[in-house]
Amino acid sequence: MEKDFAGLLHKNQLKITGPRLGVLQVIAQSDAAITQPALEKIMGADVDRVTLYRILKTFEEKGILHKVIDLNGTANYAICSPRCTVHEHHDEHFHFNCINCKKVYCLDDVPLQSIKIPEGFTAKDINLVISGLCDKCNAEKQPKMPEHQTAGV
Ligand SMILES: [Zn+2]
Ligand SMILES: [Zn+2]
Ligand SMILES: [Zn+2]
Repeated sequence: MEKDFAGLLHKNQLKITGPRLGVLQVIAQSDAAITQPALEKIMGADVDRVTLYRILKTFEEKGILHKVIDLNGTANYAICSPRCTVHEHHDEHFHFNCINCKKVYCLDDVPLQSIKIPEGFTAKDINLVISGLCDKCNAEKQPKMPEHQTAGV
């Protein structure tokens, strides 16, 4: 993942501003995709709602962030793959939406077979969402499970 956020903004002909850098930092540090309301909470007074909305929209257009619609229809934002460019996203990977913590993860490492669509159709966007329990929620559930084994086995 690109860590030089100022360089990334420069490369996309975007002025380097505090809120823009802040948004990138927050999203890059997060282990999951993040919604606008969550971003608002984290950034607090650093950015107002309208500015944040514009930043997300611009970043999406520039191929810096991609949007994932979760099971509730809420948009979550995640850092794009380096192959993404203006108006040309290449984030063809599965997304995982946890039904417990509601987090959306990018599953970049899960191989995706090429999908053949019928002749005459043109694919513009692909939306692959798996729902279930994430590793953290599964781990939390573990101690509550009935124990079948005696200690010391
Ligand atoms: Zn993208
Ligand atoms: Zn979870
Ligand atoms: Zn993704």
